[in-house]
Amino acid sequence: GAKKECPLTRGQMGRSTWEFLHTTAAYYPDKPSEEQQHAARGLIEAMSLLYACAHCREHFRNHVEAHPPDVSSRASFERWLCDAHNEVNEVLGKPKFDCSKIQERWRTGCREAKAK
Ligand code: FAD
Repeated sequence: GAKKECPLTRGQMGRSTWEFLHTTAAYYPDKPSEEQQHAARGLIEAMSLLYACAHCREHFRNHVEAHPPDVSSRASFERWLCDAHNEVNEVLGKPKFDCSKIQERWRTGCREAKAK
């Protein structure tokens, strides 16, 4: 029979969300237009208000207020997200990710699995 499809656990949602966000940043323009920068800021702002885990989003909202996202280039947006994710990793006792490996992890690595 068909496998039952279930609502996400906090961990599943977290993983899917980080996968989406880091991939978005890895393909963000080097020289984003005003409209693209506005959209990137809006994405982070919306996440900090709507993310479906109340204590996660409160922690994230505090982080965003203390460290506003730098969306002025791909490298800066990637770095901002990497640092934000590392802060969550630290709270959860997970290893810190090496932010110099961002492009390899989320765009250029494992060529057969690239998004485009
Ligand atoms: P994840 O942390 O989901 O990471 C997925 C993959 O991303 C890793 O395997 C690694 O390859 C890569 N990666 C890891 N760190 C980085 C980095 N710094 N930069 C780039 N790539 C990286 N969970 C809670 O229990 N409490 C919380 O307060 C909480 N807050 C969250 C806030 C936000 C905004 C989000 C998106 C998630 C939050 N989560 C929280 C979920 C948590 O961060 C993890 O997603 C979840 O625990 C699953 O972890 P994971 O081990 O699968 O790897």
